Amino acid sequence: MQVIQVKDNSKDLVLVTELPPFLVADLIKCPSLPTLPSVAIKILKIARSENPSVNDYANAIEHDPALTMRIITLANSAFFSRTPTRVSACSEATARLGLDTTLAAVMSFSLLQNKGIDAYYQRVWMRSIIASLAARQLAINLCPDMAGQVFTASLLQDIGIIALRETYPKDSNTLYTEEALSHRQLSESEQRLFGCDHSQVGAWLAAKWGVPVALAQRICDSHSEYDIASPDKLCVQLSGPIADAWLSSHPAQSLVTVIREFETYQGAHTISLRLLLENIKQQLPALADMLQMVAPPLLDNESLLSEAQQLLFKQTLQLNARLESQQAELASLRQRQDELEERSRTDRLTGLANRAWLEEQLQKRFLLCQEQSLIMSVVFIDLDHFKKLNDKYGHQLGDQVLERFGKALQALIREGDLAGRWGGEEFLVILPDEDARAAQVFAKRIAQRLEKTPMAHNAQEPIHVSVSIGIACLDDGGFGSADELIDAADKCMYFIKRTGRGGIAVYGERGAQ
Ligand code: GH3
Ligand code: MG
Ligand code: MG
Repeated sequence: MQVIQVKDNSKDLVLVTELPPFLVADLIKCPSLPTLPSVAIKILKIARSENPSVNDYANAIEHDPALTMRIITLANSAFFSRTPTRVSACSEATARLGLDTTLAAVMSFSLLQNKGIDAYYQRVWMRSIIASLAARQLAINLCPDMAGQVFTASLLQDIGIIALRETYPKDSNTLYTEEALSHRQLSESEQRLFGCDHSQVGAWLAAKWGVPVALAQRICDSHSEYDIASPDKLCVQLSGPIADAWLSSHPAQSLVTVIREFETYQGAHTISLRLLLENIKQQLPALADMLQMVAPPLLDNESLLSEAQQLLFKQTLQLNARLESQQAELASLRQRQDELEERSRTDRLTGLANRAWLEEQLQKRFLLCQEQSLIMSVVFIDLDHFKKLNDKYGHQLGDQVLERFGKALQALIREGDLAGRWGGEEFLVILPDEDARAAQVFAKRIAQRLEKTPMAHNAQEPIHVSVSIGIACLDDGGFGSADELIDAADKCMYFIKRTGRGGIAVYGERGAQ
């Protein structure tokens, strides 16, 4: 942030970023830096005085016949004359134009007279002229009291380009060329080269000339962030993109950007872009003529706008389609992730929880029980003589038995219970909130099911299996960890193995360890 004191005694000019000292030194040294003729300087002096009047302006302008003629022509143009009455005196003309517009006209005319206009200047000035018409029309809608000031600021918003181009003719060859950089790209390139952009330089130059500080400030703010709270700023800021669209080789496409910006900014969205463009079309020739510029060919606004609307519609559709496909992709990714997670928890053969998931859930459940003084039981199941079964009927049939047994187990548990395959032909069931008694009832149901239901057939011969089951309940043993609990159930299971198989042992009960 840099503050520059301006001759205007009321306020100081606040620049958004510092002007680098080398740049100021170079600008001051530049012999062809745009200057103002004496009549413009006189007008500025009046502008800074306590009570400037249009008559004072007229008196100063009358000394310059060419300027007087321009001002009268401008006042008689469609832009300013709402009545058919033509003015012929300078004082009438300044009265019709008002203070701000007279100031803008004097300054632009003076600046344009300064030098030979090449194609690039022509383009920069034309952008400013179109922007000033757009800004004025926007201001009439958003902040009518400030329409004149907004017009002036818009017309002068790019004078910094002229100063930079004069000061750095070498860099200008790459920077300020006809193959148009967008205005934003131009500003970014200037920032890289000079440490600030032409809006800052323009404001500095205007302040040096002695323009009213509010005007210099508006030039400085022409590239700053859109500010809804300052409609006058917004008018200048929106005017640039409108002018860019007007001058673009793809105007419909550029208008889409403008339409989007209009929709974004509260206040602007109520303005009819059609009327705005029509207004520019009507007034551009006169203003361009007054400034001795050749206006670009006028656009067919109706078809341009409808083309822009179609483009916008198409782009919105494309955007929606892209959004939908992205959402679909996301959903399928999520589903795939869920599936992967599910698979990482599942035993392939039986579809039950695998060992890793069982252990994780056991740890979690164990901690929860400790924290909230809850209980749980674990049921350890081992198929009896499974090796023999494999040997007798083949591994494939063994697999089938494991698979069927897994299904049977899954069918016997309740919601909240977790059944899993501990390994080989060993299974584990976690029964939250169940004591040993309830676990034993559950275990009996397993044994009964196996008695009733064969787990495979071998050439019509039903194959029944039996299991050895060990049970441990958390409140029965002062267990220090989940592993100790499993260990206890495992030991009970082995007790059954040792004592004949096909039975149930509960940890802590007589007979079991
Ligand atoms: P016990 O009654 O003492 O438990 O005897 P067992 O034969 O059931 O126990 P042991 O631990 O001696 O043998 C287990 C057998 O289970 C050996 C192994 O080949 C078999 N087995 C382990 N995993 C699978 C599998 O995924 N499919 C098949 N078909 N067999 C398996
Ligand atoms: Mg076994
Ligand atoms: Mg075993």
